[in-house]
Amino acid sequence: MEKKVVIIGAGLSGLACGVELKRHGVIPTVFESNSYVGGRVGTEDYQGYKLDYGFQAFLPSYELGPYFFDYKNLNLKAFSPGARIYKSGKFNHLSDPLRDPRNLLNTLFSTSATIKDKALTTKLIFSKAPAYININQSKTTLEFLKEYGFSQRYIDNFFKPFFSGVFLNKELSVSSHFFRYIFKKFSKAYASLPEKGMNQLPLQLANEIGQENITLNKSVSLDEVELTEFDYIVWAGKPENVEYHSVTTHYFKTTSNKWASKTLYLNAESNKPINHIACLTAVNPSYAPKDWHLYSVNVLQEANLEAISTHLAEMFGSEEVNQWHHLKSFKIKEALPKNPYYGKFNPGKDKVIYCGDYLESASIQGALSSGLKAARSILSRV
Ligand SMILES: Cc1cc2nc3c(=O)[nH]c(=O)nc-3n(C[C@H](O)[C@H](O)[C@H](O)COP(=O)(O)OP(=O)(O)OC[C@H]3O[C@@H](n4cnc5c(N)ncnc54)[C@H](O)[C@@H]3O)c2cc1C
Repeated sequence: MEKKVVIIGAGLSGLACGVELKRHGVIPTVFESNSYVGGRVGTEDYQGYKLDYGFQAFLPSYELGPYFFDYKNLNLKAFSPGARIYKSGKFNHLSDPLRDPRNLLNTLFSTSATIKDKALTTKLIFSKAPAYININQSKTTLEFLKEYGFSQRYIDNFFKPFFSGVFLNKELSVSSHFFRYIFKKFSKAYASLPEKGMNQLPLQLANEIGQENITLNKSVSLDEVELTEFDYIVWAGKPENVEYHSVTTHYFKTTSNKWASKTLYLNAESNKPINHIACLTAVNPSYAPKDWHLYSVNVLQEANLEAISTHLAEMFGSEEVNQWHHLKSFKIKEALPKNPYYGKFNPGKDKVIYCGDYLESASIQGALSSGLKAARSILSRV
């Protein structure tokens, strides 16, 4: 007998669930409360600019990337490895610590990395990362880095600014197993943007499910009567009792070329508001009209635009920043779940099945993986 499945929520997890079901002959009905698919992965077309809903990037090394996405069609544009790290009034260039730690000591940043840091980075790159994250493991990333033997200087000047941008958490209190997993993924591929914006990821999945099977602008609750006609209900909407890390992304446009670089800018001064900055058009020119650059300026704490502009002027010079014009800001209060279950939570054995990144890990891979598990749980039942 054909299974009737409804999916509530068309974020990446719900869409991944839908794709897997469809690939096995079950056509799902999808309800999404927003006017677009993708949930936390979205892109707004604004005055000719592509503004992703917060700075995010796709790692082509995620295991489920090639399973769900058509990479050729995404036409991924990669950031350069390494970073320019701002400290004590200047930028230091860190070439590629995650792939080529041999260069750590040759870079301008050499004063911040010791010979031991270089050896430990190499060891970490070649060490076996945990197969998947172990929830029982309570050590934080910061504790792990200290115990592993990295110098405080290197932790403060590289790991903290870089990974606080990935985890949206300045304290690096995220599970060290997740850190090691993500570290491996970063060392295997460059962070990338689809040519037409991050929303191409959910759009590909939605197209595979068939837009005709997805109803937008429709908020559904679990106890709605109309759901009774379905054999299975996949809840891919907002979870209860989950806390999130927040981020605000401010977009600026400029015609100045001076700082247009494919390398991320990181701030290592903990008393200043900005965490990381990316010139998106240096990576992907289609994010702005011709001759314009688009900068994404990311802040993990409360700060007004004036404080942001002052900090930008300190980093890039006021002459430069006077040529930057604020376009729009996105304040994302619920960006990444603080304490995901890392796969320890069963998607559900009854009629209602759950999926979402909070069940796996706070990442695109986590969302895809939970959707896949939910679908397979349904498909395995007779
Ligand atoms: C700013 C930011 C930066 C990030 N950076 C990265 C990154 O660089 N790399 C990375 O791998 N990951 C990153 N992530 C994480 C990644 O985007 C998420 O893990 C993933 O998108 C979560 O997908 P989801 O399906 O679990 O949840 P969501 O995307 O939240 O989807 C839930 C969907 O359910 C809908 N919904 C809720 N309630 C209802 C209802 N009652 N009825 C109908 N629909 C409902 C919502 O509208 C939403 O569309 C980032 C996230 C953010 C916000």
